[in-house]
Formats: sequence, C-alpha cells, structure tokens
Amino acid sequence: MNDFTALLALASIALFVFGLKRLSRVRTARTGNALMAAGMLLAIVLTLIEMGLVDYRWIAIGLLVGAAIGYLTVARAQATEMPEIVARFNGFGGASSALVAISLFWAVVVETPGDGTAASALGTASAATLVLSVLIGSVTLAGSILAELKLRGTIDGTPSIPARGPVMGLVALASLVAGFVAVFGVEDPALSSVLVLVLVAGSIVMSLALVLPIGGADMPVVISLLNSMSGLAAAATGFALNNALLIIAGTIVGASGLILTQIMCVAMNRSLVNVLIGGFSGGDAEHGEYGTVIAADPESTAMVLEAAQSVIIVPGYGLAAARAQNAAYALAQALQRQGAQVRFAIHPVAGRMPGHMNVVLAEAEVPYDMLEEMSEINADFAETDVVIVVGANDVVNPAARNEPNSPIAGMPILDAGNARRVFIIKRSLSPGYAGIKNPLFEQDNAAMLYGDAKDVLEHLTNELSANA
Ligand code: NDP
Repeated sequence: MNDFTALLALASIALFVFGLKRLSRVRTARTGNALMAAGMLLAIVLTLIEMGLVDYRWIAIGLLVGAAIGYLTVARAQATEMPEIVARFNGFGGASSALVAISLFWAVVVETPGDGTAASALGTASAATLVLSVLIGSVTLAGSILAELKLRGTIDGTPSIPARGPVMGLVALASLVAGFVAVFGVEDPALSSVLVLVLVAGSIVMSLALVLPIGGADMPVVISLLNSMSGLAAAATGFALNNALLIIAGTIVGASGLILTQIMCVAMNRSLVNVLIGGFSGGDAEHGEYGTVIAADPESTAMVLEAAQSVIIVPGYGLAAARAQNAAYALAQALQRQGAQVRFAIHPVAGRMPGHMNVVLAEAEVPYDMLEEMSEINADFAETDVVIVVGANDVVNPAARNEPNSPIAGMPILDAGNARRVFIIKRSLSPGYAGIKNPLFEQDNAAMLYGDAKDVLEHLTNELSANA
C-alpha cells in the first residue's frame, strides 16, 4: 500500500467511525448511514486498486446486480418487514465472506496448485482464518435464510432437537477438523476441496440446530447476533487476505452487532443464553380469559380528549402493521392545536426491531422533540390526563412487574396504566408477541377502542376537528 492509498484507507475507516457515532442519535442517523455507505464504497474501490488483478468488467456487473437487488428489496418493502430485510442483508454479508475465502482457497489449491498444502502457500494465520471465515460465513448465510423464513411464517413451529448443545458442539468440531485438515494436512486438491465442502455442509447443519428451535419472538435477537457474525466472518476474511480495511470494517460490524444483541436482551430482561436455548417461544403461552373490559367509541373518546391538557401516545407493533404513523401524527397535531401537550413514549423493544418506532414515526416526520425514551417519560404517566396506546400490548403489560411467573416478568414496561385515562386501540383482545393476557385492559381507568389503528386514529382526528 503506498502513501496515497494508505491515506484513503484511513479516510474510509474515519467515515465508518464517524458514521457509527452519528447512528446513535435519531436526528443524525440518516447522515451517519450515508457516511458509512461512502466509507464502504471507498473501501471497495481501494481493495480493487490494491489487488490490481481483477477484471473490472465483472466487478462493474457485480456492483450493478448487487445495487439492483438492494434497491428492489428495500423499495418494495413495508416498514414492518425491516427485520426480514436485515436478516437477508446479513445473509448476503456472510455469503460474500465465505465466497471470498473459498475463492482464495480455490486460487492457491486448485487453480495454481503448488507442491505443498494451502497453508504452505498462504501462511499459517491466513489459512486458519480462511477456515473460520468459511465456517462463520456459511452459518450466517444459512441461519439468516432460516430466520427470514421463520419471520415470514414460511417455517412454523419450534422443533426441539434432542441433545441440541452436544450435537452442535460435535458438528462444529467435525467441521473445523475437516477445514483445518483441508488447509494444513492435505496436498491433493480434490481431497482438500471435498473437505471444504464438508466444512460448508457442517456449518449449514449447525445453523439449522441453532435457529430452528428458537421462537418467532426471539428472532430479532437472533438476527442481531447473526449480524454480529457477518462482521466476524468479514474480519476473518480480512485476516485471510491480509487486508486491514476488511478487518476493521468487520470488527466494527461484529462489535456493534454484539452490543445491539445485549441491548435487546436487557430490554426484554432475558439472557442471551436463555434466548439461544429457546426458552421463550412467544405466541404459544396461555393468554387467559378477560373479566370486565370496557369498550369505548371514537365519539366519546374525542370528548375526553378535548378536555385533556396532557396526552401521551404509546406506539407499538400494531401501529407499524397498520401503517398508522401519519394518522397518529395528525391526531397529535389536532390535540396540539387545542392546546394539549402531546408526546410519544418509545419503548426500546416496541415493534419488532430496535428503533422500529423511531423509524416509523420519522417516516411521518414526527418532530424528534416529541419522542421520549421510556426512562425519560415513565415518571410522567401518573401526571398525564390521557394515554392513547396504539397497537402496543407487551410493552405496557403490568404483568411484567406484578406476576413473577409471567414469561415477560422483569421486562421494563411503560407505565401507561398510571395515567388518569387510558385508551387502547387494537382490533381485539388478542395477545401481543409474548402471547399473554394484559391486565391493563381490565383496569378501571382503561377502555378499548376496537379497530384498525389507522381507521380509529383518523376517526378520532375527524371528531376532534368537527368539534373544534
Ligand atoms: P405486541 O406484539 O405486544 O402487540 C402488538 C398488538 O398490536 C397486538 O396485540 C395486536 O392486537 C395489535 N395490532 C396488530 N395489528 C393491528 C392493527 N392493524 N391495528 C391495531 N392494532 C393492531 O407489540 P409491542 O410493540 O407492544 O411489543 C413488542 C413485542 O415484540 C415485545 O414482546 C418485544 O419483546 C417483542 N420483540 C421486540 C423486539 C424489538 O427489537 N423491538 C425484538 C424481539 C422481540 P390485535 O390483533 O388485537 O389488533
């Protein structure tokens, strides 16, 4: 690497680091994303300049096909499909790392076979990390495909695998042995290629055992973990190729994915081990019968809202599912026009991925200063006239606090039930993702507004505007 390319590499790393920093605030996240994309493009261009031996026409075709797949995937996607999209992109990340490592192996073992093993051509560290890259990349690809199919409901249920831990351990060991023998112990190209295929097959079996028994509710945590693994695979490929940029980019992805996984586990009051052993399948739990539940209609609710000085809107998965973000903001504006203070309370795991509500509300251009994190707003519920819960359920379920045996026991919740009046907009008394009854619906200060979130919110706004 000459001084000029070294300087460009440093610029690319700086773009990743500053981009990542900006991702930590909703306000700056868009530019953060753009900075990191620019850093990635610079890294790709630099790698091509440095390698110098590739046919640029194929690279151009690859860039075009990749960009078209990325554009089509995102352009047609709904906001509720975000976890599936992230799963797919993680899978592509893992696949590319594994493919690059396999082509490195192919280049030294099959295309230009020397006298010795792959390790004698590549060096010990490069050969060892090549094996890790194939293993982690293949697990990430197969695991991400399974995760997406589970989220879409194409694969249903959580089959239990007998002695899952030992089975996975043995398969991992056998795959690694096959991989290391392929690069360190065998000189025959045909035999070492077969061993690499065994390594890939073993990785696919591992991903089946890892992902299949985990319930749908835990899938976003698994996806975040797979995201971290795609970074580790890229870093391993970086070591195999002796490419510092790839090592740094991969390590940043790996570390951030792991931190995100930890944040999600803490917000759900679960340990990662508990998630991975499939302790909480979500949706299968008994959700129990309801006693007295009051139903309200938009007309009478609008009258209560007209008198409210302070209103908190709690968005949840149902708001995203109904694409009701614009309707929610329109209602907030109508309430502001009549002089009420209106805020949105954001639970860290509301929806189906971290930051889901922020993304959805940003789409409707809800000003950032109207959004409050759970820790900032929880004490204010007791002083609030009206809370409108829109398609949220688990994140306002007091069972998390009051019922030690509940599957969500210990999960921090928004204290919506402490407000003077609580209106809950959802279509029925069906449970949320945790599959359990919500005692908030039976509280004396609570009333259900049954219906699709978008329809009910629009109805409320029309009533308020008509009475203004
Ligand atoms: P929930 O899944 O608890 O509840 C969503 C509610 O929305 C349902 O009860 C449903 O009731 C209602 N709903 C669905 N569609 C509509 C619609 N069109 N109009 C009105 N209501 C609708 O959502 P929360 O956001 O409260 O909680 C998120 C859950 O997901 C938590 O259990 C969390 O742990 C879990 N999770 C979140 C992750 C994250 O990162 N955000 C990651 C992993 C898990 P009905 O059918 O009656 O309308």
